[in-house]
Formats: sequence, C-alpha cells, structure tokens
Amino acid sequence: MSADQPHVLLVEDEAAQREVLRYNLAAEGFEVTAAADGDEALLLLEEAAPDVVVLDWMLPGVSGIEVCRRLKARSETRAIPVIMLSARSEEVDRVRGLETGADDYVVKPYSVIELIARVRAQLRRARPSTVGQELTYGDIRLDAESHRVWRAGTPIRLGPTEFRLLATFMEKPGRVWTREHLLDRVWGRDIFVDTRTVDVHIGRLRKALRAGGGDDPIRTVRGAGYALG
Ligand code: CA
Repeated sequence: MSADQPHVLLVEDEAAQREVLRYNLAAEGFEVTAAADGDEALLLLEEAAPDVVVLDWMLPGVSGIEVCRRLKARSETRAIPVIMLSARSEEVDRVRGLETGADDYVVKPYSVIELIARVRAQLRRARPSTVGQELTYGDIRLDAESHRVWRAGTPIRLGPTEFRLLATFMEKPGRVWTREHLLDRVWGRDIFVDTRTVDVHIGRLRKALRAGGGDDPIRTVRGAGYALG
C-alpha cells in the first residue's frame, strides 16, 4: 500500500455490487477498503480516515444516512467527502441525502465509469495531490504528477517522505496536523513509526525549503503539531 494512493471506503451490503465497485476502483489506482454494513463502516472509520466514502443508503443495521450523519458530526471526519448511493430517485430523497451532509448523490443503477468520475471530482476538491493536481502556497509550487517542487521558481530537492509531507500541508494550508494524523496520511496506517520520526522529516523538509533563503513556512504548534502558514 502506498500513502500516495487515494483511499476509498466503500460501504455496500450487496456483495456483487460491492465486488464490481471494489474491482473497478482498485483498477483505477485507488486503495479500497470495503464494508458490508453500517456498523463495520463506523469501525473502519475509527481506525483510519479514508479520502472519500462511497456509501449505500439502504444498509442492514445502521443505515447509510446515519453513518453519514455521524461522520459529518465529528470534527475529525467532517471534511471527508461522502457520495451516497441510492435506489431512491425521488427529489425529496435527494434533498434528504444532501441534508445529512452528503457531498454527492448517485442514483442506482449507476454507471461505474460515472461513479468513478464523481469520486475523482470529490478528491480533486478534498485531496488534490492524489489526482495529479498542481498546488501552490505563497512562492512554493508543487506538481503532484511529476513529484517536483519549486520555491520562488527554483527547484527544491525533496525525499519521498518530505514530498508527501509538503503535499499534505499544501492541501490544507493553516490546518494544524498532529503527528498521529501526519503518520496516518504520509506513512500509511499499517506502518509502525515512532511519532518522533515525524519531527525528523519535518526538520529535513524545513531545511530543504529554506535552502535558497526565504522564511520557514512551517509553524510548530506547541502541544498540537504542525501547520503550513
Ligand atoms: Ca443496499
């Protein structure tokens, strides 16, 4: 598993539909975690934050609407885009789906290609570096496709970990990241790394960004973590 791959949590109780989607999302380069019901989805959300959630409305036990409502009620998971899937097509249901905080709504039967395009659209908004977008912050420019970074027009050499750290910061300037969040996002959730390792790589990133002069754009937030700007 690579931390660069966008992570999709897929919640669908119908096994055949779940497998078709899992297969197609994986073929498109997504890391897919699948859940067959709402309880399993909530457990998986406790373990690791996905980049996007594809969520069936009608699920046994905790419904998709309830999963969405809980996800949007917590500050840690509120920003994760949710695409609701439903066989219901009435306008009133569509409105209800969006009222729960869902970011998009796809009616069954859907085209897999269209659903994947919707997933990408949500990622472009929420995690631009995972879909090959260019990011800028002040005089820093990052090209996620070619893995190159410039500061005031001068190329900056970064190791892969420093690159992913910078991409994470540049996606959400001003956001304070705890070391645990950065470990999850940059190293991947299955890898055991000491939180002090984060400090070491932040140090390298700062040094590389200041190599040609210029301010330190990374702020240390005492007792909390790090932020860009
Ligand atoms: Ca269902």
